[in-house]
Amino acid sequence: MTKLKPARRWQPAWRPFGRTSLGNRTLAAVERAFKGPVYGCRMCGNCLLQETAFICPMECPKGLRNGPCGGSTPEICYVDETRPCVWYKIHERAFAKGREEKLLEVLPPLDWEKVGGETWGDVIRQTRDVGFGTFLKGMRRRETRHATRESVFQPIRQPDWWRGDAEYHPPAPGEPVSELERRLRAGEFVVTSEVAPPMGSATGKLLRDIEMIRPYVAAVNFTDSPSATARMASQACSILAMQNGAEPVMQIAARDRTRVGVQAEVMGASALGIRNLLCLSGDSPAIGPAPRSRMEVVDIESVQMLWILRRMRDEGTYLDGREIKSPPTFFLGAAASPYASRPEFQALREHKKVNAGAQFFQTNLVFDPKGLEIWLESLAARDILDKVYILIGVTPLKSYKMARYMDDDVPGVFIPEHILTRLEKAGDKAGEEGVQITLELIDQIRGMPGVNGFHLMPVMWESIVPRIITEAGLLPPDFEAPPNHDELIAGA
Ligand code: SF4
Repeated sequence: MTKLKPARRWQPAWRPFGRTSLGNRTLAAVERAFKGPVYGCRMCGNCLLQETAFICPMECPKGLRNGPCGGSTPEICYVDETRPCVWYKIHERAFAKGREEKLLEVLPPLDWEKVGGETWGDVIRQTRDVGFGTFLKGMRRRETRHATRESVFQPIRQPDWWRGDAEYHPPAPGEPVSELERRLRAGEFVVTSEVAPPMGSATGKLLRDIEMIRPYVAAVNFTDSPSATARMASQACSILAMQNGAEPVMQIAARDRTRVGVQAEVMGASALGIRNLLCLSGDSPAIGPAPRSRMEVVDIESVQMLWILRRMRDEGTYLDGREIKSPPTFFLGAAASPYASRPEFQALREHKKVNAGAQFFQTNLVFDPKGLEIWLESLAARDILDKVYILIGVTPLKSYKMARYMDDDVPGVFIPEHILTRLEKAGDKAGEEGVQITLELIDQIRGMPGVNGFHLMPVMWESIVPRIITEAGLLPPDFEAPPNHDELIAGA
């Protein structure tokens, strides 16, 4: 039994207008009176307490129902620094009690029809369907207890429209759908690079950056309003990239979408020829500019997005069960965060993403090879290294100030002190020092088991990408320098 938790700050229950029976209202009042103070229950109507070690996940301000975000720490939630990360606590307790594998089941988004209402009614109805006598008999014996409990609770937490589980669902066999997938499947060590979408509607710099970087990489990522700050849409940049001969990775943040919106958008992206999708929950509006958008109503998150998109592609169904006559085509990716929370906690979350549908990972920034090795070992222990391609995120640090900011303020980024010291000592030559640090990191990481390539995040320093790839010896086998190479770099 947990301590009393009167403070119900995040994810308040929403209740549509409507009449409910006196019985349901009474049941809801009793449930609220009990679970409110004990679990901090927000009456989400879609209770997961048994799966989440009896700690209510609705306290997470990002609305995550499938594990911690990439910014989770043992101390605080990065969105609300007055509170600890609820998902860290859930994992801590689940691991301590040996219940961690329960966290692997892919859990559905809220059924908003039920939000604000009781869940005990569902339990009573399901027990009646199983048979009260059968239930009591099954619960008496240790060998049948788990199966009996599951016969009641599994259909409640996994409704027919979701049917989530803790199993790996390999993609349907077939030819690679993108150049990035083809190269990875062929065993090529690949490099992808981010290009920042423009702040305005002019595309000149974007197109020059794409032209400059295109020959060096397998694909170009376009971020989706990072730091919850609006920029040109990732889908628009992806289309512009294809029109200019580059293969895009379209990033898609659940933060800005509903379940309907995301399905519609990816269907359109597939029709337009976009194949690589990177599914993210997205940075919280808490780190975005003012005025802040709503934070407490989150419709879906990245694991759920992967589950929905994989089923659209492989099972040809929308979330609501409608058949898709011409299913979309995707190579599905997700973010991974080697330094958030604890490696074994994050590994469980990455495992869940692989089960849900992630075929490749692009990691958060890596500056500490030792820590990366520990995280990779945690993934190996979960037997997922051969089920997902991993591209390690690296960034050339341009200045000590930038490094300090990233270490202090960017969720999930850890920069060791010796790197900070090198940059500080380098003074106005910090940019060159940052490049050397990146080259050294690439050298230390490239041979690690499970690493399939790198993902460069130049943070508005796109002109450095060709140099890093060339000096690191990572040029693709078919590389041909563009005839106007020097001109492009000079103009970048
Ligand atoms: S750190 Fe992330 S996962 Fe943890 S409570 Fe905050 S938003 Fe949720």
